Amino acid sequence: MKKIENYINGEIKSFSKNYLSVEDPSKGEKIADVVLSDEKDFYSIIESSKNAFESWSKFTPLKRSRIISNYKNIIEKNIENLSKLVSEEHGKTLEDAKGSVIRGLEVVEFAMGIPHLLKGEFSQNVGTNIDSWSIRQPLGITAGITPFNFPAMVPMWMYPISIACGNSFILKPSEKDPSCALKLAELFSEAGLPDGVFNVINGDKEIVNMLLDSKDVTSISFVGSTPVAKYIYKKAADNGKRVQALGGAKNHLVVMPDANLEQAVDGIMGAAYGSAGERCMAVSVAVAVGDIADKLVENVSNKAQTLKVAPWTDPSADMGPVISKEHKEKIENYISIGEKEGASLVLDGRKCNIQGYENGSFVGPTLFDNVTKNMKIYKDEIFGPVLSVVRVKNYQEAISLVNDHEFGNGSSIYTSDGEISRHFTTNCKIGMVGVNVPIPVPMAFHSFGGWKQSLFGDHAMHGIEGVRFYTKLKTVTSRWPNSIKSGPEFVMPTN
Ligand code: NAD
Repeated sequence: MKKIENYINGEIKSFSKNYLSVEDPSKGEKIADVVLSDEKDFYSIIESSKNAFESWSKFTPLKRSRIISNYKNIIEKNIENLSKLVSEEHGKTLEDAKGSVIRGLEVVEFAMGIPHLLKGEFSQNVGTNIDSWSIRQPLGITAGITPFNFPAMVPMWMYPISIACGNSFILKPSEKDPSCALKLAELFSEAGLPDGVFNVINGDKEIVNMLLDSKDVTSISFVGSTPVAKYIYKKAADNGKRVQALGGAKNHLVVMPDANLEQAVDGIMGAAYGSAGERCMAVSVAVAVGDIADKLVENVSNKAQTLKVAPWTDPSADMGPVISKEHKEKIENYISIGEKEGASLVLDGRKCNIQGYENGSFVGPTLFDNVTKNMKIYKDEIFGPVLSVVRVKNYQEAISLVNDHEFGNGSSIYTSDGEISRHFTTNCKIGMVGVNVPIPVPMAFHSFGGWKQSLFGDHAMHGIEGVRFYTKLKTVTSRWPNSIKSGPEFVMPTN
């Protein structure tokens, strides 16, 4: 059986003898054991990260950028391998996995620009013969804790920028699909990254707690569910760390009566059911405004029935299984709750059996109509291929729904009306907004982050927000001795 260890100081190894099973969600069979690291693993990683920081932080930004540029080329050559690792353990289709690796790669490309990104500000003569400038310096040992749904992309939102800024980085990947993280670390070493700058520690919440309690770890980047994000935010902040903790979502897509219906339906299809709905930017609520509702439900239902649910090894699959049997049960339970709450079940994804994969965790596309805002299936993040349609009379009701929901990750509007779209982008209380775009995920050179219960902390991820998060600002005020008038000054200097 394959054993998944840690990446400590350029070596794949671990001290702990405790392991947890990793399963293939398509078959429901164990495919590997991942180590549950112990204190010895933890302290050896901390020591390695500490030593590596001392020398790495002194590399010039240009030298760091050249290593990152090598890394980009190596990842490009390994896209197939990396995507396969994602699909094997996560279950998503190979093309979808590939797309996610490429979105991660774009952050590596962004990080190559670090000499430019770290440029500070300079002012000559802030006082007579006095100059002032700002610099951004690395934090030290930084850490990231990541979810199961994007085993390559979400870690890549974090470590390329942190490392480019001169930090060392410890990654704690999801215990459900940890292989890709190790491969990403090995490839970085191949690109010339000194040992210890990027370490990977596997395990569960015990390791997370060690990271949160460690005096040596300066910052925590977290992506996962909202209850855990809140916990991480509080504990990390209590321990004096810088923290960005991204949580769950319930993304609404508003379809106005003047929308191009075909485009809206196509958009909903990929956004609600792609990756079996296990994306933090998945659309789980379609808000049908006015008389478009009947046609929208009919067209979504017709198209959703044609989607092919199959394992990732089938190249014609539109969506694969969900991550585990427990998660499948949770989603199916939500479908039963929705029925009891009185929503109209148009498509039922339960009992989705696939020949040869009877133990797989498959859930078919599910569609509820006439969902209302007091229902549990509307309020909770289900994180599966379950779309709820809420019917509203007008735009005002639609934007109120979006704004009143506790999550604020992403939202989109489909409309041909420029004024409505402008009003929506200006007034919705949401971090990432789309206009006639179903999943408005920002590119690497912009920043990713939600509002409300979808993000705890002050910084979004990647883009310039990432550079700010992973550096401390220092401002220097200086003059040369010959320009100093003799004698002390006792009043605040002014110009
Ligand atoms: P999760 O919160 O269960 O786990 C995330 C990470 O936290 C894992 O590494 C896990 O080992 C660790 N963890 C779990 N429980 C913990 C605990 N009690 N204490 C300390 N650490 C703990 O999330 P998941 O199920 O892996 O991922 C799905 C969730 O992630 C969804 O809610 C989804 O919306 C969210 N997500 C959000 C974004 C975003 O950008 N906002 C992106 C991707 C996923």
